[in-house]
Amino acid sequence: MVELRRIYWSRQALRLAYSAAVLWLAASVVLALVPGTNAGTGQLTSSVSDIFRGMFDAVLASAALPGLFVVAPTIAAVIIHAQDVRRRDPVRRFTRQQRREGMTRAGGQCEMEAGFKRRCSRPAEHGDHFYPWSKGGSTSLQNFVAACARCNRAKSSTIPSPGQQERMERRRRDYLTPVGSVSVGERQPLT
Ligand SMILES: [Zn+2]
Repeated sequence: MVELRRIYWSRQALRLAYSAAVLWLAASVVLALVPGTNAGTGQLTSSVSDIFRGMFDAVLASAALPGLFVVAPTIAAVIIHAQDVRRRDPVRRFTRQQRREGMTRAGGQCEMEAGFKRRCSRPAEHGDHFYPWSKGGSTSLQNFVAACARCNRAKSSTIPSPGQQERMERRRRDYLTPVGSVSVGERQPLT
């Protein structure tokens, strides 16, 4: 799966942009509420409602720009999610044949990463979608990874990092027969 690097890093960048914008927004609101930082607080105000209106205007004015920067990645995330849903493989469960082949390929041992970036030593119990099914991962032998219950649960529907993919392919070179392909991961086309 060659496009994993691009998918992984663009989603990480989006998450980072969103977090930064939320922090900026929060800081802007707090600063707008600190007395003396906005114009008008030095003057004598006539009533409580004037004070609150002044605070509201100050918050609105300073939150507008960071607010836009929060909205933009949110819209991008909604579009990405909709595309993931459209990509979903109509078949979610691996066939008996795929499970048998995938488990044999792994020698019945979990293929996931345990501590110190080594292969997990527990027996495999589940067939896992390497690229998550919910995000458009194919229900294919190419995307099949043998996993123990604990690793399967821990991974859930997170997109693996390019590093994890690289290391799994490197580990597979040690236990797969020369004819078997070590490459892992497959995503459905956008239809
Ligand atoms: Zn495991």
